[in-house]
Amino acid sequence: MPIISVIGDINVHGGGAFDQGLSANVSAGNKAVALAGQTGSGSNDSQYDARTRSQHRASNQQAASGSANVFANNKPVHRVGDGRLEGATAGPGISSVGVN
Ligand SMILES: [Zn+2]
Repeated sequence: MPIISVIGDINVHGGGAFDQGLSANVSAGNKAVALAGQTGSGSNDSQYDARTRSQHRASNQQAASGSANVFANNKPVHRVGDGRLEGATAGPGISSVGVN
């Protein structure tokens, strides 16, 4: 079962840690959970290049997908391995909290 994604989780491309749009009142392991369509990063991932690899920019770090049946604040809970607008979340997440 995939594990829940939380604040600080990075993109598979490196960096782009979640630091924006997290749940204000739902936590796992004492960390705010990531929500599909809302959670993102203020940082580009490490593959960013303004001229040749602009898709790796901060605005594309947003969580794009999540659980089909587990929600927080009426949004799907994002999980390690779920896609972002560009890339996917590498984690580490909270390994003790699985979300189907
Ligand atoms: Zn990237």
